[in-house]
Amino acid sequence: MTSPPLTVDGFVSEFLLNLNFDGGVSLSESSTNDRYLALACTVRDYLMARWLEDLRKQKEDQAKGVCYLSAEYLLGRQLDNNLLATGLSEIAAEALESCGLSLDQLREHEIEPGLGNGGLGRLAACFIDSLATLGVPSIGYGIRYEYGIFRQTFEDGQQVEQPDAWLTLGSPWEFPHPERSQLVSFGGRTETYDDDGVTRSRWIPAWNVNAIPCNYMVPGFQNGRVNTLRLWRAKATDAFDLRIFNSGDYEEAVRAQTFAENISKVLYPEDSTPQGKELRLQQQYFFVAASIADFLENVLADGYDLTRLGDRVIFQLNDTHPVIAVPELMRVLVDDRGMEWDTAWEVTQQCFAYTCHTLLPEALEVWPVELLGRLLPRHLEIIYRINDEFLAAVRERFGDDELRIRNMSIIAEHPERSVRMAYLATVAGSKVNGVAELHSQLLRDKVLPDFDEFYPGKFTNVTNGVTPRRFLRLANPELSALITEAVGSGWESDLDRLRGLEEHVDDAGFRSAFAEVKAANKRRLNEVLRARDGFEVADGHLVDVMVKRLHEYKRQLLKVLHVVSSYEGVLSGRIAVEDLQPRTVLFGAKAAPGYAMAKRIIHLINAIGSTVNDDPRLQGRLKVLFPPNYNVTLAERVIPAADLSEQISLAGKEASGTGNMKFALNGALTIGTDDGANVEIRELVGDDNFFLFGMAEPEVEALSARGYRPSEFYQADEDLRRAIDLIASGAFSGGDRTVFEPVVSNLLYEDRFMVLADFASYMAAQERVDAAYADEDAWTRSAILNVARTGFFSSDRSITDYIDRIWHTPPTS
Ligand SMILES: *Cc1c(COP(=O)(O)O)cnc(C)c1O
Repeated sequence: MTSPPLTVDGFVSEFLLNLNFDGGVSLSESSTNDRYLALACTVRDYLMARWLEDLRKQKEDQAKGVCYLSAEYLLGRQLDNNLLATGLSEIAAEALESCGLSLDQLREHEIEPGLGNGGLGRLAACFIDSLATLGVPSIGYGIRYEYGIFRQTFEDGQQVEQPDAWLTLGSPWEFPHPERSQLVSFGGRTETYDDDGVTRSRWIPAWNVNAIPCNYMVPGFQNGRVNTLRLWRAKATDAFDLRIFNSGDYEEAVRAQTFAENISKVLYPEDSTPQGKELRLQQQYFFVAASIADFLENVLADGYDLTRLGDRVIFQLNDTHPVIAVPELMRVLVDDRGMEWDTAWEVTQQCFAYTCHTLLPEALEVWPVELLGRLLPRHLEIIYRINDEFLAAVRERFGDDELRIRNMSIIAEHPERSVRMAYLATVAGSKVNGVAELHSQLLRDKVLPDFDEFYPGKFTNVTNGVTPRRFLRLANPELSALITEAVGSGWESDLDRLRGLEEHVDDAGFRSAFAEVKAANKRRLNEVLRARDGFEVADGHLVDVMVKRLHEYKRQLLKVLHVVSSYEGVLSGRIAVEDLQPRTVLFGAKAAPGYAMAKRIIHLINAIGSTVNDDPRLQGRLKVLFPPNYNVTLAERVIPAADLSEQISLAGKEASGTGNMKFALNGALTIGTDDGANVEIRELVGDDNFFLFGMAEPEVEALSARGYRPSEFYQADEDLRRAIDLIASGAFSGGDRTVFEPVVSNLLYEDRFMVLADFASYMAAQERVDAAYADEDAWTRSAILNVARTGFFSSDRSITDYIDRIWHTPPTS
């Protein structure tokens, strides 16, 4: 098979072929959607030969590879990424122009596949990009949700969720293979039987669903590699009951079908707290059961010796969502393939590794035994046996230390009997990693200390990263061109070369070119915001950005208090308006639909924006913008235009963050706490180029132990009191004091994430920001140093660390 020629003419003919023969329209009659689809198919065609070749080679070589198991992939738009990977961007632009079309316009037509919530799903997307760029044999496995993360709109400042119909205009990047479906079973019971004198167990399930693989190309960056992302879609085993249909009961006839196909219908719009929903467990088992079966049947060579499976594959568990894969592999090996339990357990331990993504105790997933036993009875038996053997080993080592046994048991007894998925993953995994140095340390010391003691060497760290292809090269083409000018080409897949920028920092010409790029990015953001939301960032404003999921631990409220305090300062005359550094504060955040406090905070931010933006007393020097529907596409526009990156979580709560890395790489300075990967960012860029504030984690612990009373901070700090009182007075809710009362009383009487305790320190840091921004040239110098020194945060480096510390899967040629 050959690829179309890499020329403008070659591209044009392929494009027209796709438009006419596949789309069934002529160029003159075609819609934007027809043209987008034909363009996508054309780019696909250039990748196809390499993809088929890589699929064949993976099967032939049988080299050790990675199966990345993740319930979420927050991919972002595909067209541009795939154009870049193939090096076709310029050819495509010229080819389309010669047809009288605009690449820019078609690019904007794509609806991004939002098959993830936030950082965790975006991490998975960055990782498969890096795996392909590094040439590691790998498959990403996940769920092909029909509806991804909801589309956020605002009505009267309040979040309204709209369904995300990303598939309605066609899905040119997806290759479904119904003929390769896997049957996934649920429910029923187990039984034992005699197999030639050996007692064995088997599962008699009650119902099944088909899992249809939908394949996506994952091209490496201009290296000719194309890996695979395989997402599973649920399809009923019997379409519908024709007899019932003919009898006229149409609803009943499709009920079973609807029930089965609901499994891949929607992404759970939750971030960091599990929702104990049966459908969620169905989703989890659905995709890992299909993935394991697919790997064993279609990727592994026929007749492969399963006792050596650990030489051939590592299943990386992205958080606890796929952990039910552990008992599933045991079930397949022991029940279906007749392997001895002990051998199977050894193999299983070699084949899994687990990434933990949280420190919040409420986010550690547990499944009630009642539910797990009803849905997956055989798996529950297997989990019990794993736990019995594990606890026996703990007793052997530590004696009958009942408290320790209870603390380490995979089965929790309170508040209801349930399975602790993080513990199961820790017992089964060859390695357990946290996602930043601080997080990994706290994981060992605070969350799973008994396990660290029991399994020396099992815990490790792999600091997260982001792909420089999407978040620098594609998102920031002007900075990319400047970088290439300064350090040469090729930095996109060797990001340490950004260090070469340091020698240009004393060059005034380079600094002014860098500042001009930032200004151009602000103009570009303005165009986007104007078209999308009618917003505008005024000239000369410091662009202060906080974009991430809305969660109390991330402390959007601390940013709110800074804005309100500035506003209150001007109203009360404490601050002369002409002394106010002009700022535009830009928020972006979705709240989980069931998270009432998060939604109230969104409402509050919008209310503050409406009040502040129109108040003439501020003379336009303080603006609060909240464009709805923060997603990857918006991130790609906002981040390159930012001056200041807000990373202000309570220390010890943000596992890593990856937004923080994207900002630093695009030359924003960070105002941040000593939390997650902020710690490593600050170490790399230096204290002079980072605005640190707030308590460190040990201080948080100490305050907590003393007994934290937020009202004491409120009483003691006049500025804080005035800011909170202004919100409480109804100033942002038309005089109605009830609307934001729950936010205010939560801050005053609970404040779990210690917003008030860090307020004074945050305000002082913001004053340092204002002072620093006043010296434009010095600010630019710091911004350049941020870019130069954060090449470490390439996800290529993360993947290299996974290979060295966990996977031992060298790249293949
Ligand atoms: C990077 C990214 C995130 C993660 O942001 P954090 O600040 O690390 O929480 C969330 N959503 C989108 C769309 C992203 O691109």
